[in-house]
Amino acid sequence: MKYFYTLFITLICLTISAQDTYIQCGKLIDTKTGKILTEKTIVVSGNKILKIENGYVAGKKNDTTIDLKDKTVMPGLIDMHVHIESESNPKAYLERYTDNEADVAYNSVGLAKKTLMAGFTTVRDLGGSGVNIALKKAIAQNKIDGPRVFTAGKIISSTGGHGDPTNGSKKALVGDPGPKEGVVNGIEDAKKAVRQRYKNGADLIKITATGGVLSVAKSSSNPQFTVEEIKAICETAKDYGFHVAAHAHGDEGMRRAVLGGVKTIEHGTLMSEKTMDLMKQHDAYLVPTITAGKEVTEKAAIEGFYPEIIVPKALEIGPKIQNTFKKAYDRGVGIAFGTDAGVYKHGQNSREFGYMVEAGMPAIEVIQSATTTNAKILNMDDQLGQIAPGFLADIVAVNDDPTQKIKTMENIVFVMKDGKVYKK
Ligand SMILES: [Zn+2]
Repeated sequence: MKYFYTLFITLICLTISAQDTYIQCGKLIDTKTGKILTEKTIVVSGNKILKIENGYVAGKKNDTTIDLKDKTVMPGLIDMHVHIESESNPKAYLERYTDNEADVAYNSVGLAKKTLMAGFTTVRDLGGSGVNIALKKAIAQNKIDGPRVFTAGKIISSTGGHGDPTNGSKKALVGDPGPKEGVVNGIEDAKKAVRQRYKNGADLIKITATGGVLSVAKSSSNPQFTVEEIKAICETAKDYGFHVAAHAHGDEGMRRAVLGGVKTIEHGTLMSEKTMDLMKQHDAYLVPTITAGKEVTEKAAIEGFYPEIIVPKALEIGPKIQNTFKKAYDRGVGIAFGTDAGVYKHGQNSREFGYMVEAGMPAIEVIQSATTTNAKILNMDDQLGQIAPGFLADIVAVNDDPTQKIKTMENIVFVMKDGKVYKK
Protein backbone atom coordinates (compact mmCIF):
# COMPACT_ATOMS: atom_id res chain seq x y z
CA MET A 1 0.00 0.00 0.00
CA LYS A 2 2.79 2.34 1.00
CA TYR A 3 4.50 1.62 -2.33
CA PHE A 4 1.42 2.65 -4.33
CA TYR A 5 1.07 5.80 -2.25
CA THR A 6 4.67 6.80 -3.00
CA LEU A 7 4.16 6.04 -6.69
CA PHE A 8 1.00 8.19 -6.72
CA ILE A 9 2.76 11.17 -5.11
CA THR A 10 5.72 10.81 -7.52
CA LEU A 11 3.37 10.82 -10.51
CA ILE A 12 1.62 13.97 -9.24
CA CYS A 13 4.97 15.73 -8.71
CA LEU A 14 6.09 14.75 -12.22
CA THR A 15 2.89 16.15 -13.71
CA ILE A 16 3.25 19.47 -11.91
CA SER A 17 6.94 19.95 -12.72
CA ALA A 18 6.71 18.65 -16.33
CA GLN A 19 8.40 21.31 -18.36
CA ASP A 20 7.72 22.43 -21.89
CA THR A 21 10.24 23.64 -24.44
CA TYR A 22 9.73 26.95 -26.28
CA ILE A 23 11.66 27.17 -29.55
CA GLN A 24 11.82 30.71 -30.93
CA CYS A 25 12.22 30.53 -34.72
CA GLY A 26 13.38 33.41 -36.94
CA LYS A 27 12.14 31.49 -39.97
CA LEU A 28 9.96 28.40 -39.93
CA ILE A 29 9.32 26.25 -42.99
CA ASP A 30 5.70 25.17 -43.26
CA THR A 31 6.17 21.99 -45.29
CA LYS A 32 2.43 21.54 -45.80
CA THR A 33 1.95 24.81 -47.70
CA GLY A 34 5.55 25.34 -48.84
CA LYS A 35 5.56 28.79 -47.22
CA ILE A 36 8.28 30.26 -45.03
CA LEU A 37 6.84 31.81 -41.87
CA THR A 38 8.71 34.35 -39.73
CA GLU A 39 8.92 35.01 -35.99
CA LYS A 40 7.15 31.96 -34.56
CA THR A 41 7.51 29.99 -31.35
CA ILE A 42 7.07 26.20 -31.30
CA VAL A 43 5.88 24.85 -27.96
CA VAL A 44 7.00 21.24 -27.35
CA SER A 45 5.51 19.15 -24.57
CA GLY A 46 6.92 15.68 -23.98
CA ASN A 47 7.67 14.14 -27.38
CA LYS A 48 5.01 16.13 -29.24
CA ILE A 49 4.43 19.58 -30.65
CA LEU A 50 1.78 21.29 -28.54
CA LYS A 51 1.24 24.50 -30.51
CA ILE A 52 2.80 27.20 -32.69
CA GLU A 53 2.55 30.75 -31.34
CA ASN A 54 2.94 34.00 -33.24
CA GLY A 55 5.97 36.08 -32.28
CA TYR A 56 8.65 35.14 -29.77
CA VAL A 57 7.17 33.64 -26.63
CA ALA A 58 9.29 32.63 -23.64
CA GLY A 59 8.41 29.73 -21.35
CA LYS A 60 7.59 29.97 -17.67
CA LYS A 61 9.97 29.28 -14.79
CA ASN A 62 10.22 25.52 -15.23
CA ASP A 63 10.21 25.60 -19.04
CA THR A 64 13.19 25.67 -21.40
CA THR A 65 13.47 28.43 -24.00
CA ILE A 66 15.66 27.90 -27.07
CA ASP A 67 16.72 30.88 -29.17
CA LEU A 68 16.79 30.08 -32.91
CA LYS A 69 15.86 33.65 -33.93
CA ASP A 70 18.64 33.84 -36.51
CA LYS A 71 18.04 30.32 -37.90
CA THR A 72 15.68 28.63 -40.32
CA VAL A 73 13.73 25.85 -38.62
CA MET A 74 12.04 22.87 -40.29
CA PRO A 75 10.75 19.37 -39.50
CA GLY A 76 13.30 16.59 -38.95
CA LEU A 77 14.50 15.26 -42.31
CA ILE A 78 13.64 11.80 -43.65
CA ASP A 79 15.97 9.78 -45.89
CA MET A 80 14.11 6.99 -47.71
CA HIS A 81 17.17 5.02 -48.74
CA VAL A 82 20.00 4.26 -46.34
CA HIS A 83 21.95 1.17 -45.32
CA ILE A 84 22.37 2.12 -41.69
CA GLU A 85 24.56 -0.78 -40.56
CA SER A 86 27.41 -0.48 -43.04
CA GLU A 87 29.56 1.88 -45.07
CA SER A 88 31.35 1.29 -48.36
CA ASN A 89 35.15 1.05 -48.23
CA PRO A 90 37.86 -0.87 -50.10
CA LYS A 91 37.80 -3.61 -47.46
CA ALA A 92 33.98 -4.02 -47.45
CA TYR A 93 34.04 -7.13 -49.65
CA LEU A 94 36.55 -8.84 -47.37
CA GLU A 95 34.67 -7.80 -44.22
CA ARG A 96 31.73 -9.96 -45.32
CA TYR A 97 33.91 -12.97 -44.51
CA THR A 98 35.68 -11.63 -41.46
CA ASP A 99 33.03 -9.70 -39.51
CA ASN A 100 30.53 -11.31 -37.15
CA GLU A 101 27.13 -9.81 -36.41
CA ALA A 102 28.53 -8.22 -33.24
CA ASP A 103 31.22 -6.43 -35.29
CA VAL A 104 28.54 -5.07 -37.62
CA ALA A 105 26.42 -4.05 -34.64
CA TYR A 106 29.17 -2.11 -32.85
CA ASN A 107 30.09 -0.39 -36.09
CA SER A 108 26.49 0.59 -36.80
CA VAL A 109 26.13 2.55 -33.54
CA GLY A 110 28.42 5.34 -34.77
CA LEU A 111 26.80 5.40 -38.20
CA ALA A 112 23.33 5.87 -36.69
CA LYS A 113 24.55 8.75 -34.55
CA LYS A 114 26.17 10.52 -37.52
CA THR A 115 22.88 10.26 -39.39
CA LEU A 116 20.90 11.82 -36.56
CA MET A 117 23.42 14.63 -36.08
CA ALA A 118 23.09 15.44 -39.80
CA GLY A 119 19.42 16.27 -39.18
CA PHE A 120 17.91 13.01 -40.37
CA THR A 121 15.55 12.09 -37.55
CA THR A 122 13.90 9.28 -39.54
CA VAL A 123 15.32 6.87 -42.11
CA ARG A 124 14.04 4.02 -44.20
CA ASP A 125 16.73 1.36 -44.11
CA LEU A 126 16.79 -0.66 -47.33
CA GLY A 127 18.68 -3.73 -46.39
CA GLY A 128 21.47 -5.25 -44.37
CA SER A 129 22.38 -8.37 -42.41
CA GLY A 130 19.50 -8.25 -39.93
CA VAL A 131 21.49 -6.18 -37.42
CA ASN A 132 19.40 -3.28 -38.75
CA ILE A 133 16.36 -4.67 -36.92
CA ALA A 134 18.25 -4.87 -33.61
CA LEU A 135 19.61 -1.36 -34.20
CA LYS A 136 16.11 -0.02 -34.77
CA LYS A 137 15.00 -1.52 -31.44
CA ALA A 138 18.00 -0.18 -29.52
CA ILE A 139 17.33 3.34 -30.83
CA ALA A 140 13.59 3.12 -30.10
CA GLN A 141 14.40 2.02 -26.53
CA ASN A 142 16.81 4.97 -26.11
CA LYS A 143 19.81 2.72 -25.56
CA ILE A 144 21.76 4.48 -28.31
CA ASP A 145 21.35 7.73 -30.29
CA GLY A 146 20.08 7.47 -33.84
CA PRO A 147 17.23 8.24 -36.19
CA ARG A 148 13.83 6.56 -36.01
CA VAL A 149 14.35 3.53 -38.28
CA PHE A 150 11.92 1.77 -40.60
CA THR A 151 13.80 -1.22 -41.91
CA ALA A 152 13.47 -3.86 -44.62
CA GLY A 153 15.70 -6.28 -42.71
CA LYS A 154 17.33 -8.46 -45.36
CA ILE A 155 16.80 -7.70 -49.05
CA ILE A 156 14.80 -10.11 -51.23
CA SER A 157 16.51 -11.13 -54.46
CA SER A 158 16.54 -14.05 -56.93
CA THR A 159 19.39 -16.53 -57.32
CA GLY A 160 22.51 -14.65 -58.40
CA GLY A 161 20.51 -11.41 -58.24
CA HIS A 162 21.81 -8.10 -56.92
CA GLY A 163 20.89 -8.98 -53.32
CA ASP A 164 22.01 -12.64 -53.27
CA PRO A 165 24.35 -12.59 -50.25
CA THR A 166 26.62 -15.28 -51.71
CA ASN A 167 27.46 -13.56 -55.00
CA GLY A 168 31.14 -13.78 -55.80
CA SER A 169 31.92 -16.38 -53.13
CA LYS A 170 33.84 -19.58 -53.81
CA LYS A 171 31.67 -22.70 -54.12
CA ALA A 172 32.42 -24.04 -50.64
CA LEU A 173 30.93 -20.89 -49.10
CA VAL A 174 27.92 -20.50 -51.39
CA GLY A 175 25.53 -23.15 -49.99
CA ASP A 176 21.96 -22.80 -51.20
CA PRO A 177 20.47 -19.61 -49.79
CA GLY A 178 16.66 -19.54 -49.72
CA PRO A 179 13.80 -17.24 -48.69
CA LYS A 180 15.18 -16.87 -45.15
CA GLU A 181 18.40 -15.39 -46.48
CA GLY A 182 16.45 -13.40 -49.07
CA VAL A 183 16.87 -15.55 -52.18
CA VAL A 184 13.58 -16.52 -53.82
CA ASN A 185 12.58 -18.30 -57.02
CA GLY A 186 8.89 -18.65 -57.70
CA ILE A 187 5.72 -17.55 -56.02
CA GLU A 188 5.81 -19.78 -52.91
CA ASP A 189 9.36 -18.66 -52.08
CA ALA A 190 8.33 -15.04 -52.57
CA LYS A 191 5.47 -15.32 -50.10
CA LYS A 192 7.62 -17.13 -47.56
CA ALA A 193 10.36 -14.50 -47.72
CA VAL A 194 7.86 -11.72 -46.94
CA ARG A 195 6.36 -13.64 -44.02
CA GLN A 196 9.85 -14.43 -42.71
CA ARG A 197 10.64 -10.70 -42.64
CA TYR A 198 7.45 -10.01 -40.70
CA LYS A 199 8.49 -12.66 -38.21
CA ASN A 200 11.98 -11.13 -37.93
CA GLY A 201 10.60 -7.66 -37.19
CA ALA A 202 10.99 -5.78 -40.48
CA ASP A 203 8.71 -2.82 -41.31
CA LEU A 204 8.69 -3.03 -45.08
CA ILE A 205 10.10 -5.05 -47.98
CA LYS A 206 12.99 -4.32 -50.33
CA ILE A 207 13.52 -6.25 -53.55
CA THR A 208 16.24 -6.01 -56.17
CA ALA A 209 14.25 -5.89 -59.41
CA THR A 210 17.36 -5.62 -61.61
CA GLY A 211 21.10 -6.10 -61.43
CA GLY A 212 23.08 -3.50 -59.53
CA VAL A 213 26.43 -1.77 -59.39
CA LEU A 214 28.05 -2.96 -56.17
CA SER A 215 27.22 -6.70 -56.35
CA VAL A 216 29.92 -9.08 -57.54
CA ALA A 217 27.93 -9.98 -60.68
CA LYS A 218 28.08 -9.04 -64.32
CA SER A 219 24.95 -7.07 -65.17
CA SER A 220 24.02 -3.74 -63.63
CA SER A 221 20.55 -3.64 -65.07
CA ASN A 222 19.00 -6.93 -66.27
CA PRO A 223 15.52 -7.84 -64.95
CA GLN A 224 15.74 -10.39 -62.10
CA PHE A 225 12.14 -11.20 -61.20
CA THR A 226 9.02 -12.11 -63.14
CA VAL A 227 5.95 -9.88 -62.76
CA GLU A 228 4.22 -12.82 -61.04
CA GLU A 229 6.96 -13.10 -58.42
CA ILE A 230 6.84 -9.36 -57.72
CA LYS A 231 3.05 -9.47 -57.51
CA ALA A 232 3.25 -12.32 -54.98
CA ILE A 233 5.69 -10.28 -52.89
CA CYS A 234 3.59 -7.09 -53.02
CA GLU A 235 0.29 -8.85 -52.30
CA THR A 236 1.75 -10.75 -49.35
CA ALA A 237 3.41 -7.56 -48.09
CA LYS A 238 0.02 -5.86 -48.09
CA ASP A 239 -1.33 -8.51 -45.66
CA TYR A 240 1.25 -7.30 -43.13
CA GLY A 241 0.84 -3.57 -43.75
CA PHE A 242 4.18 -3.40 -45.57
CA HIS A 243 4.99 -1.40 -48.68
CA VAL A 244 7.62 -2.60 -51.15
CA ALA A 245 10.71 -0.73 -52.40
CA ALA A 246 12.42 -1.94 -55.57
CA HIS A 247 16.04 -1.35 -56.47
CA ALA A 248 16.13 -0.92 -60.27
CA HIS A 249 18.52 0.46 -62.89
CA GLY A 250 17.19 -1.26 -66.04
CA ASP A 251 13.90 -0.23 -67.64
CA GLU A 252 12.30 -3.68 -68.10
CA GLY A 253 12.91 -4.64 -64.45
CA MET A 254 11.38 -1.43 -63.16
CA ARG A 255 8.42 -1.75 -65.51
CA ARG A 256 7.71 -5.19 -64.03
CA ALA A 257 8.17 -3.82 -60.51
CA VAL A 258 5.64 -1.03 -61.04
CA LEU A 259 3.16 -3.46 -62.63
CA GLY A 260 3.72 -5.83 -59.71
CA GLY A 261 2.72 -3.14 -57.22
CA VAL A 262 5.87 -1.66 -55.65
CA LYS A 263 5.58 1.77 -54.00
CA THR A 264 9.05 3.16 -54.74
CA ILE A 265 11.64 2.68 -57.47
CA GLU A 266 15.17 3.18 -56.15
CA HIS A 267 17.72 4.82 -58.51
CA GLY A 268 15.61 4.40 -61.70
CA THR A 269 18.70 5.02 -63.83
CA LEU A 270 17.65 3.83 -67.31
CA MET A 271 13.94 4.66 -66.93
CA SER A 272 12.03 5.25 -70.19
CA GLU A 273 9.32 7.86 -70.61
CA LYS A 274 6.81 5.03 -70.89
CA THR A 275 7.81 3.71 -67.46
CA MET A 276 7.66 7.24 -66.03
CA ASP A 277 4.04 7.45 -67.20
CA LEU A 278 3.35 4.00 -65.75
CA MET A 279 4.71 5.19 -62.38
CA LYS A 280 2.36 8.17 -62.44
CA GLN A 281 -0.56 5.87 -63.26
CA HIS A 282 0.30 3.53 -60.36
CA ASP A 283 1.13 6.30 -57.87
CA ALA A 284 4.71 5.00 -57.49
CA TYR A 285 7.57 7.28 -56.43
CA LEU A 286 11.15 7.62 -57.64
CA VAL A 287 13.86 7.71 -54.97
CA PRO A 288 16.75 9.26 -56.91
CA THR A 289 19.93 8.54 -54.84
CA ILE A 290 21.99 10.98 -56.95
CA THR A 291 24.68 11.15 -54.24
CA ALA A 292 25.34 7.42 -54.61
CA GLY A 293 25.65 7.85 -58.38
CA LYS A 294 28.24 10.62 -57.96
CA GLU A 295 30.11 8.61 -55.33
CA VAL A 296 30.47 5.33 -57.27
CA THR A 297 31.61 7.27 -60.36
CA GLU A 298 34.31 8.96 -58.30
CA LYS A 299 35.42 5.87 -56.36
CA ALA A 300 35.53 3.67 -59.50
CA ALA A 301 38.44 5.83 -60.68
CA ILE A 302 40.50 4.84 -57.61
CA GLU A 303 42.41 1.67 -58.38
CA GLY A 304 41.44 -1.21 -56.08
CA PHE A 305 38.58 0.58 -54.31
CA TYR A 306 36.01 -1.78 -55.88
CA PRO A 307 36.51 -5.34 -57.20
CA GLU A 308 37.28 -5.30 -60.93
CA ILE A 309 33.86 -6.55 -62.07
CA ILE A 310 32.21 -3.50 -60.48
CA VAL A 311 34.25 -0.72 -62.09
CA PRO A 312 32.66 -0.70 -65.59
CA LYS A 313 29.17 -0.92 -64.04
CA ALA A 314 29.87 2.06 -61.76
CA LEU A 315 31.16 4.12 -64.68
CA GLU A 316 28.14 3.20 -66.82
CA ILE A 317 25.37 3.77 -64.25
CA GLY A 318 26.73 6.38 -61.81
CA PRO A 319 26.86 9.41 -64.12
CA LYS A 320 23.33 8.88 -65.50
CA ILE A 321 21.28 9.06 -62.31
CA GLN A 322 21.03 12.84 -61.93
CA ASN A 323 19.79 13.31 -65.49
CA THR A 324 17.14 10.59 -65.15
CA PHE A 325 15.93 12.28 -61.98
CA LYS A 326 15.59 15.56 -63.88
CA LYS A 327 13.58 13.91 -66.68
CA ALA A 328 11.30 12.10 -64.25
CA TYR A 329 10.71 15.25 -62.19
CA ASP A 330 9.94 17.29 -65.32
CA ARG A 331 7.49 14.61 -66.47
CA GLY A 332 5.61 14.74 -63.16
CA VAL A 333 6.74 11.53 -61.45
CA GLY A 334 6.42 11.73 -57.64
CA ILE A 335 9.83 12.21 -56.02
CA ALA A 336 10.79 10.84 -52.60
CA PHE A 337 14.07 12.09 -51.14
CA GLY A 338 16.56 9.25 -50.64
CA THR A 339 20.33 8.99 -50.94
CA ASP A 340 21.68 5.42 -50.52
CA ALA A 341 23.83 6.44 -47.54
CA GLY A 342 26.27 3.65 -46.83
CA VAL A 343 27.36 3.66 -50.48
CA TYR A 344 28.94 6.99 -49.43
CA LYS A 345 29.73 8.15 -45.88
CA HIS A 346 26.81 8.35 -43.44
CA GLY A 347 26.10 11.87 -42.25
CA GLN A 348 26.62 13.42 -45.68
CA ASN A 349 22.99 12.72 -46.66
CA SER A 350 22.30 16.42 -47.28
CA ARG A 351 24.55 16.49 -50.34
CA GLU A 352 21.46 15.19 -52.17
CA PHE A 353 19.62 18.52 -51.65
CA GLY A 354 22.20 20.38 -53.75
CA TYR A 355 22.17 17.78 -56.53
CA MET A 356 18.35 17.85 -56.74
CA VAL A 357 18.23 21.65 -56.88
CA GLU A 358 21.03 21.66 -59.47
CA ALA A 359 18.85 19.40 -61.66
CA GLY A 360 15.97 21.87 -61.53
CA MET A 361 13.70 20.94 -58.62
CA PRO A 362 12.92 24.04 -56.52
CA ALA A 363 14.50 23.93 -53.03
CA ILE A 364 11.18 24.10 -51.23
CA GLU A 365 9.88 21.08 -53.17
CA VAL A 366 13.05 19.16 -52.39
CA ILE A 367 12.53 19.87 -48.68
CA GLN A 368 8.91 18.74 -49.01
CA SER A 369 10.09 15.51 -50.67
CA ALA A 370 12.32 14.91 -47.61
CA THR A 371 9.49 15.60 -45.15
CA THR A 372 5.80 15.45 -46.14
CA THR A 373 6.19 13.10 -49.13
CA ASN A 374 8.36 10.62 -47.25
CA ALA A 375 6.09 10.71 -44.20
CA LYS A 376 3.18 9.82 -46.48
CA ILE A 377 4.97 6.83 -48.01
CA LEU A 378 5.83 5.60 -44.49
CA ASN A 379 2.15 5.98 -43.57
CA MET A 380 3.21 8.41 -40.84
CA ASP A 381 1.86 11.62 -42.33
CA ASP A 382 -0.20 12.40 -39.24
CA GLN A 383 2.94 12.28 -37.06
CA LEU A 384 6.02 13.11 -39.15
CA GLY A 385 7.08 15.62 -41.81
CA GLN A 386 5.41 18.75 -40.44
CA ILE A 387 5.79 21.17 -37.55
CA ALA A 388 2.17 21.23 -36.43
CA PRO A 389 0.19 20.55 -33.25
CA GLY A 390 0.04 16.85 -32.38
CA PHE A 391 3.00 15.90 -34.56
CA LEU A 392 6.11 14.25 -33.09
CA ALA A 393 8.67 16.85 -32.00
CA ASP A 394 11.32 16.17 -34.66
CA ILE A 395 12.80 19.59 -35.40
CA VAL A 396 16.03 20.74 -37.07
CA ALA A 397 17.56 24.11 -37.96
CA VAL A 398 20.13 25.60 -40.35
CA ASN A 399 21.94 28.96 -40.42
CA ASP A 400 20.56 30.29 -43.70
CA ASP A 401 17.34 30.14 -45.68
CA PRO A 402 17.75 26.98 -47.84
CA THR A 403 15.49 28.42 -50.56
CA GLN A 404 18.20 31.07 -51.06
CA LYS A 405 21.24 28.93 -50.26
CA ILE A 406 20.73 25.15 -50.46
CA LYS A 407 24.29 24.38 -49.26
CA THR A 408 23.17 25.41 -45.77
CA MET A 409 21.40 22.01 -45.50
CA GLU A 410 24.85 20.40 -45.17
CA ASN A 411 25.38 22.24 -41.90
CA ILE A 412 22.58 21.31 -39.49
CA VAL A 413 23.01 23.33 -36.28
CA PHE A 414 20.08 22.09 -34.19
CA VAL A 415 18.53 18.64 -33.84
CA MET A 416 15.56 17.61 -31.73
CA LYS A 417 14.05 14.14 -32.00
CA ASP A 418 11.01 13.03 -30.05
CA GLY A 419 11.22 16.20 -27.95
CA LYS A 420 14.83 15.60 -26.91
CA VAL A 421 17.62 17.95 -28.00
CA TYR A 422 20.62 16.13 -29.52
CA LYS A 423 22.47 19.08 -31.06
CA LYS A 424 22.41 22.74 -30.15
ZN1 LIG B 1 20.87 0.87 -51.58
